[in-house]
Amino acid sequence: MSDTSRRQSGRKKGSLTARRTASGRASKGFEALLDEMSAAMTRALAHEIDDEIERWLRKIVLALDLDRSTFWERASADLGFICTHWWGRPEAPKMPPNAVATRVSPWLTAKVLAGESLIYTGLDGQLPIEAPELRRFVEAYGPVANVTMPLQVGATVVGGLTFDKYRGPRDWPEQELRRLRVVGQIMASALDRKRADLQTRELQAEVTLAARRSAMGEFAASIAHELNQPLGAILGNANAARRMISGEKSNPGEAVAALGDIVEDAKRASGIIRRVRALFKDGNSPKTVLDLSVPLAEIEGLLRSEAGVRKLSLRIEVAPSLPPIMGDRIQLQQCLLNLVLNAFDSVAAANSQRREVLVRVVQEKAGWVRVSVSDSGHGIDPLVQGRLFEPFVTTKPNGMGMGLLVTRSIVESHGGKISGKSNDDVGATFSFTLPTSRGRLREERAEA
Ligand code: ADP
Repeated sequence: MSDTSRRQSGRKKGSLTARRTASGRASKGFEALLDEMSAAMTRALAHEIDDEIERWLRKIVLALDLDRSTFWERASADLGFICTHWWGRPEAPKMPPNAVATRVSPWLTAKVLAGESLIYTGLDGQLPIEAPELRRFVEAYGPVANVTMPLQVGATVVGGLTFDKYRGPRDWPEQELRRLRVVGQIMASALDRKRADLQTRELQAEVTLAARRSAMGEFAASIAHELNQPLGAILGNANAARRMISGEKSNPGEAVAALGDIVEDAKRASGIIRRVRALFKDGNSPKTVLDLSVPLAEIEGLLRSEAGVRKLSLRIEVAPSLPPIMGDRIQLQQCLLNLVLNAFDSVAAANSQRREVLVRVVQEKAGWVRVSVSDSGHGIDPLVQGRLFEPFVTTKPNGMGMGLLVTRSIVESHGGKISGKSNDDVGATFSFTLPTSRGRLREERAEA
């Protein structure tokens, strides 16, 4: 061997070692990238998975000196797959949004659906593509080297993944292919997790909707039932009044009484409608920062004169320097009125010596204000204890059973809670909590 040839062979050897070392370094780099990707995908919350997929397609393209990578999700049978994510270098062809796999190639779609991959290293006439139109297309537009593989969860194909090189041919060493398959496994399980999360959320939404529909159905049925009573009575009385006026033996006195009943029943029916309206009044009415003592002070005069008529004592205690809340003044007055008038009713019906109602507004714990209304009435009838906040539940001869329902709906639309129970000694206490405006802000910030 001449010196020159020895030198040459030595150089060759050297450059081979250098290439090996470089590819070894790249391989180690890819191994580390896989570990990082696996950790990131596992950590990602379901709604972050889409962004993660795109981020990692880019990293892999750059790490392996490719030009483009595309990610396909399984769709209906006629579409096969839809391209949902991709990343490419600026020179690589762009993917049209939501590209459909069967339109690109039914042959390749069927192959991937069957769990098979397509791999080629260059456009040298050995293309493993059976479909002539796809071969022609690839020969004309590339990619020059490509790996297309299924994304599988167990035996189920959930998507597809491609790695494309446009700038020239490229080998796909077995070790690299193994790692690309690992990429596919990590992405497939992330996709599966995303879909499971979506399904769970859809299911939850369906259950909530079904529950709401059935609650609304029951509510509508009870409104219809409640309205039927006064309407039936109006019809009966109107017919009777007509007979009394137009018949041979007309009786104007009784006709007037029947008309009086009609007026009362019509008032009752319109009262029901008014309360139902109040219940569904826009829950997003403007809420302002306010001190709860203000709306209470505004109705205090009204409450005191009613207490005077009913001969009972009304005490109002408001803690000094209450933290402000966010609320609708008029709606909150409606709550206070409902609870206090119920307390008055209970005291009046109990007809006992003690005739007291106490309204207290206190700061409960940090972030909450509590309003309670206690009375010395008859306490809560055990028959209605568990159904106090349901529509048309009443123990009063002329009650409508809507007051507590409306009150609860207002309190809840303010982010609060309401409850009512009999006192240990005498009477009952109804109370509701409301978040202070500071507490609310903190909650909103925590949610955001
Ligand atoms: P209504 O006052 O028309 O009956 P509500 O929804 O306001 O409708 O009240 C429903 C029922 O709750 C009342 O009929 C009564 O049985 C019970 N209730 C409400 N407040 C009190 C109270 N302070 N003490 C005892 N029972 C009460």
